[in-house]
Amino acid sequence: MTSQEIRQKFLDYFKSKEHLIVPSAPIVLKDDPTLMFSNSGMTQFKDFFLGYKTPTAPRIADTQKCLRVSGKHNDLDDVGRDTYHHTMFEMLGNWSFGDYFKKEAIAFAWELLTEVYGIPKENLYVTIFEGDASENLDRDQDAYDFWKSHISEDRIINGNKKDNFWEMGESGPCGPCSEIHIDLRTPEEKAAVPGISLVNQDHPQVVEVWNLVFMEFNRKADKSLEKLPAQHVDTGMGFERLCMALQGKSSNYDTDVFTPLISKVEELSGKKYTGILEDEKDIAIRVVVDHIRAVSFAIADGQLPSNGGAGYVIRRILRRGISYSYRFLDMKEPFLYKLVAVLQEQMGPFFPEIEKQGKLVAEVIKSEEDSFLKTIENGLIRVEKLIQQTIANNQKVLPSEDVFELYDTYGFPDDLTRIIAEEKGLTISEAGFKTQMDKQKLRSKADSAQKVYDWVILEERDENFVGYDQIESETYITRYRKVE
Ligand code: ATP
Ligand code: MG
Ligand code: MG
Ligand code: MG
Repeated sequence: MTSQEIRQKFLDYFKSKEHLIVPSAPIVLKDDPTLMFSNSGMTQFKDFFLGYKTPTAPRIADTQKCLRVSGKHNDLDDVGRDTYHHTMFEMLGNWSFGDYFKKEAIAFAWELLTEVYGIPKENLYVTIFEGDASENLDRDQDAYDFWKSHISEDRIINGNKKDNFWEMGESGPCGPCSEIHIDLRTPEEKAAVPGISLVNQDHPQVVEVWNLVFMEFNRKADKSLEKLPAQHVDTGMGFERLCMALQGKSSNYDTDVFTPLISKVEELSGKKYTGILEDEKDIAIRVVVDHIRAVSFAIADGQLPSNGGAGYVIRRILRRGISYSYRFLDMKEPFLYKLVAVLQEQMGPFFPEIEKQGKLVAEVIKSEEDSFLKTIENGLIRVEKLIQQTIANNQKVLPSEDVFELYDTYGFPDDLTRIIAEEKGLTISEAGFKTQMDKQKLRSKADSAQKVYDWVILEERDENFVGYDQIESETYITRYRKVE
C-alpha cells in the first residue's frame, strides 16, 4: 500500500462511520497565544472541547500537519537520531464532540488496524492510564474493560501520567489516554525478549502508533483540572509510523513518505543512504529530509523564517539542516531548496498549499541557505581550531570568551558550537556564556541603537532543557524547562 492509499483508507474508514472529513489546519498558528504550531490533531478543535464554539459536526476525521519543535512537545533533539520522531509529521485523527466515547473509539481503532489494514493482532499492545493520586485521578477501568473484549489481558499495560494522560500544552483540554503500540521485531527477537517489556522504552521497533485520548478535563492556567462541559474523544495516529508498519519497514525513513526525498539528496550529494542509526552521514540525511518538510510546509502556510517568534524557530530548523548537510554531506552550496520540487510532486496531490506555494518556498529557502552558508564557513573553521586548542590544553570546556566571540562577532550559533563540542566529548559553559552576554550588554548599554541578535540568548540551562520559547522581545528567545 502506498502512503497515499494508507491516508485515504483512514479517511474512508471514518467517513463510513459517519465522520465529517475536514482539511488539515495550517501548521502555524496565528491566533493562539499559548502555542506557536499545531502540535496535534486536536489543536484546531480546542474551542470545541472548551465549549467556546459549536462543533461543525459531532464526528470529524482528518490528517493534521503537526510540528513538535517547541513548547511541551519538542522532539527536535531526537530527529535524525532515531527512526520514528519527526519535526513535522502527519497525525491522522478521529474525534467525537460529545458523541461516542471510549467504547466506540476503542472498537473503531481496533477494527481499522486489524481488519482494514490487516495488522496481525499478536503484534499489538495497548496501554491504559493507571491513575494519579496527586491529582485525584482514578485508573481508567472503563478503557481496560473495553479493551478486554478485543485483546488478551496480558497485552493491556498500565501507564503513568507521562505516557497516559495527554495534554496539549501547559494549559488547555486534556484527559486520560489509551495508546496502541506495535511490535515490528523479527520472530527471533520477539522470542528472546517479551514485547510487553519494551513498550514506551524507546525501542525503535516497538513503537507507539495511535493514542486515543478521552478528553474530560481542562488544565487551567493555575494548573488545576476542571471538568469539561462534555466528554469527547480525540485520537492521533502517527501517519509515517503507520506507513512503516504497513509497508513492512523498520524505519519511517524507508517508507515512500521519505524515499523520494532521500533519493534526491543522494543524487545531489553523491552520498549513499545506508540507514545506519549512528552513522553521521545517515543522521544528516534523515535530518535534511525531515527538516525540509517542516520548513517548506511552515513557509507554505505563511510563516517566513525570521529573527523572532515562530519565524525564528523555522529559521533555526532550516539552519540545523544546513549545518548537518554542510558538515556530513559536504554540501557547501545551497541545495535544500531543490528538494521542494520533490515535496510538491509527492505531497501536492493531497496538500494543495505546497503545490501552489512551491516556487516561493524554494526561493525563500535558497536565500536562507546562501546567507547561512557564509556564516557557517567562517564559524566552523574557528570552532574546529578552538576545539583543538581546548583538547591540547587538556581542558573539557571551551573557553566562554571564545564561544561568545564566535556568537557575537561572527554570528555563529552557540548552540551549534555546543553540538560540535559535544561530539568531541567537550562542552560549553552556559553560565560562562551568560556572563559574557551580561558583560556585553553592559558594554553596549551606552549604545542606544537596538541590537538584533541572530541566535539564542541562554537564560538558563540544565538537563531538562527541551527547547526554545519566546519572551517579550521579538529577538529574544529563552530556554525553558520541561514541566512533567
Ligand atoms: P512518543 O511517545 O513516541 O514520543 P507521543 O506519546 O509523544 O509519542 P502523542 O502526543 O500521543 O505522541 O501523539 C499521537 C501519535 O502521534 C503518536 O502515537 C505517534 O504515533 C505520533 N507521533 C508523536 N510524535 C511524533 C513525532 N515527533 N514524529 C512522528 N510521529 C509522532
Ligand atoms: Mg513524544
Ligand atoms: Mg508516548
Ligand atoms: Mg502518546
